[in-house]
Amino acid sequence: MTTVHRVYNFAAGPAVLPLPVLEEIQRDLLALPGVGMSILEISHRSKTFEAILERAEADIRTLAGVPSNYRVLFLQGGASTQFSMVPMNLLTPGTTADYVDTGSWALKAIKEAQKVGTVNVTGSTKADNYSRIPAPSEMTFTPGAAYVHITSNNTIEGTEWKMLPDAGGAPLVNDTSSDMFSRPIDIARHGLIYAGAQKNMGPAGLTIVIVREDLLQRSQKSLPTMLNYAVQAENKSLYNTPPAFAVYALGLVMKWLVAQGGLDAIAKVNERKAAILYGEIDRTGFYRGTAQKESRSLMNVTFRLATEDLEKLFIKESTAAGFDGLKGHRAVGGMRASIYNAFPEEGVNALVGFMKEFERTHG
Ligand code: PMP
Repeated sequence: MTTVHRVYNFAAGPAVLPLPVLEEIQRDLLALPGVGMSILEISHRSKTFEAILERAEADIRTLAGVPSNYRVLFLQGGASTQFSMVPMNLLTPGTTADYVDTGSWALKAIKEAQKVGTVNVTGSTKADNYSRIPAPSEMTFTPGAAYVHITSNNTIEGTEWKMLPDAGGAPLVNDTSSDMFSRPIDIARHGLIYAGAQKNMGPAGLTIVIVREDLLQRSQKSLPTMLNYAVQAENKSLYNTPPAFAVYALGLVMKWLVAQGGLDAIAKVNERKAAILYGEIDRTGFYRGTAQKESRSLMNVTFRLATEDLEKLFIKESTAAGFDGLKGHRAVGGMRASIYNAFPEEGVNALVGFMKEFERTHG
């Protein structure tokens, strides 16, 4: 195999994938072992693809401890399509859905739900620039709500829920796009979980939905077929042609995760990586973390410098030094280091080394 140069990729998504996964894809791209065809060429109705899909689901179930009364769906359209599908399926007429407003993506979910039905926005931290997750005392849930929607990790603002809220019996719906399978998750406390795959789980083009079976009864026959959870579940995610390559690649990432020791083990690595980076941010005051400490994300580490000019210089010099994707989201500015499961610890140490040197020369 030729030696290729890979930079440290801090992008928020699509993001870095485990090297062994990329190598396996490269090795088997022309012909899957024993099949003689590429994953890009095989029928989604073939036994081979069926086995790939089943294996991916089995690994997801093992990793996350998915109870048997939950269905795992492989859908398309990204997490953004879930912003619409969730209310279309679950927000039945005459009911209210509660949404917690913790950032730009939460707000997008709210806007889509408002097109479908009645939404109660509870516990917004907008007044604090979304620098934290609201405390339980700041959220008032609607009695008998159709569901309560949260965003477990706020990719742009760099905050995460450390504990799930008590939704008072309403199904909890969680957009876990940027932290799915980065730490253990209590599926049984949720009604539905969704995530675009392109951060922690695989390439873009695939969305994972884990939904409690009884909620499928809410899906009305009048819904567009492709947007109906019950139809997707009945057809085992094969109502139409799924993105076979993305399912295959996600399956390899799940296999890699199992080999790492599962979610408890990867969470320890993620905690360690984030602690190294936040430790450097907090060391002198030259860097300023934008999220409040108790809400800091372990996946997206957001920080600023004293001036925008200095930030521009940081981006320029870090890029030249082989670090990619550190520019913060255009909506908030500053810097963001996304350190998902597959991001190597030595890359975090290398960034800290660069940050120390940048402070020494520009501080
Ligand atoms: N929710 C969150 C928390 C996200 O980070 C993103 C993507 N960055 C989305 C939703 C939208 O995902 P997609 O691009 O898959 O529609």
